[in-house]
Amino acid sequence: MEQTLVIIKPSAVQRGLIGQVITRFQQKGLLIAGMKMMQLDEPILREHYAHLVDRPFFPWILNAMMACPVIVMAIEGKDAVNVVRTMTGATNGRNAAPGTIRGDFSMSSQENIVHASDSLESARIELARFFKSDEIFNYTLQTIDFTYAPDEKQ
Ligand code: ADP
Repeated sequence: MEQTLVIIKPSAVQRGLIGQVITRFQQKGLLIAGMKMMQLDEPILREHYAHLVDRPFFPWILNAMMACPVIVMAIEGKDAVNVVRTMTGATNGRNAAPGTIRGDFSMSSQENIVHASDSLESARIELARFFKSDEIFNYTLQTIDFTYAPDEKQ
């Protein structure tokens, strides 16, 4: 099974949406392999958003992501990277499709509720960035037989 990183951003924490975001992943049938609250700082954000450091809005991203603690989650499931990205929706909440997290909860390209890894390789790097190995747990949900066909359970 794949694992991917989700960050529930300050926009969701401040607007009281932590529970609704977590519920969506659980309702989908994904497993929460790790979850914790942490205060992000500039060094980790410069690493995490290295592809955006030269953009004029990067200082805004820093402020937005450090505004309060975030929730980081390691989410596991069959094709979890793509499934979670699809559930997340387009970067700009105003363009994100209804039914996606950003489409339902965000009006902004900055204050867009969640981060989700965009590839399997990014997921591997990002999980290692935010979690120690003993903070990600190996267990099985007892509902697995009602979530997947036999050939989907790996
Ligand atoms: P995504 O989060 O959908 O993978 P990006 O990697 O392009 O998108 O951007 C990372 C984050 O930077 C976005 O989720 C958003 O919080 C912020 N961001 C992107 N574009 C803008 C923008 N034009 N203005 C402000 N913040 C932005």
